[in-house]
Amino acid sequence: MSNSPTIYMDYAATTPMDKRVVDAMSPWWGDFVGNASSLQNAHGQMAKRAIDKAQNQIADAIGADKDEIIFTSGATEANNMVLLGLAEHLKSEGRTHIVTSKTEHASVLMPAMQLMRTGFDVAFSTLLPCGMADGKDVLAALNENTGLVSIQAVNNETGVINPLDEVKAGLMGTDILFHCDAAQALGKAPFNVKDTGVDFATLSAHKVYGPQGIGALYVRREVQSYLKPLVYGGGQQGGLRSGTLPTALIVGFGEACAIAVAEQSADKQRFENYHQIIRSALDKAQVTYKINGHDHGKDSTLWRVPNIMNICFEGVENEWLLEAIQGFAFSTGSACSANGNKTSHVLEAIGCTATEVNSSIRLSFGRMTTEQEIQRVATELAQVVSSLQELTQAA
Ligand code: PMP
Repeated sequence: MSNSPTIYMDYAATTPMDKRVVDAMSPWWGDFVGNASSLQNAHGQMAKRAIDKAQNQIADAIGADKDEIIFTSGATEANNMVLLGLAEHLKSEGRTHIVTSKTEHASVLMPAMQLMRTGFDVAFSTLLPCGMADGKDVLAALNENTGLVSIQAVNNETGVINPLDEVKAGLMGTDILFHCDAAQALGKAPFNVKDTGVDFATLSAHKVYGPQGIGALYVRREVQSYLKPLVYGGGQQGGLRSGTLPTALIVGFGEACAIAVAEQSADKQRFENYHQIIRSALDKAQVTYKINGHDHGKDSTLWRVPNIMNICFEGVENEWLLEAIQGFAFSTGSACSANGNKTSHVLEAIGCTATEVNSSIRLSFGRMTTEQEIQRVATELAQVVSSLQELTQAA
């Protein structure tokens, strides 16, 4: 990325907008105006058409239908909308047991805790040492009162992919609702609502080169009536989430999804190459490290996206790395929480010791990252870490 003070290696936190997305949005910041609810006039009708197109692009990216896409302000709101919005329905059915995992994003864990305060029982499935939710354990945690299972598609700190197929197979034939936070999966790993059998799926535009401030909740048509809105008002989006639809943001989100679909496999190959460049540099410099979340899951297939690397450097505190590394921006701990110093609940949950958590950093790269940048990052990282490891070994 040009004009940046450092090389940006924090794509899992947020991605730059793709230039094509900016171009698609730009008329909606001034040249065009219209409220998609004002269908009496041509301006409103034009905004509605643009939103319809974007809604189709988003739906197509995950195998859904247009009317199953409900716009929100982002993934945080979408996750809250599922857990809190289902509470009344689940209570009325006497299904107050929920199953999730400790590596979920805070925007799932916090509303789950809020539900616990109101009488729900939440079970956290155990995790495999590689960081994956254990499909068998998710299913073992179910009981006759379970109303909802919420398991993310890809973890934002480790890049580990969860075995949604196993969960789907176990839920088949039950009426337990299935939610998946797919914010980190869109454009990075295959994710299709039909294949995964989910009833609800969370998406966010700013993880996929779209604008910040817009996300969506996929709500399978047949379960829409179970959700109570969190936001009441003019009744937009079938009353599920009121408020004027932000045309520019939605147009950008739609374009970002269309590009993600077209470029996912090319991106993936490039990212795998970048991943290996970084690891080769560390190996060559004889750095002692381990990849948190592991490469290979329960079988020999890769159960991780290549664009997120969570690396633990033995004997090197991540705070030192923040100070010593000048050339690129990365994150430590729970990067997506407001308190940047908070320790990582994800790494703790997958069995890292406190020392390992404090010696871990997350590198994440994306579509705008060049091979030259990766080479520079790899060289600096290997140099800095190997000097620090030499110092700590000598001490
Ligand atoms: N879920 C996951 C898996 C995420 O990575 C994030 C962003 N860190 C969120 C939810 C929240 O996304 P948003 O910023 O769109 O609210």
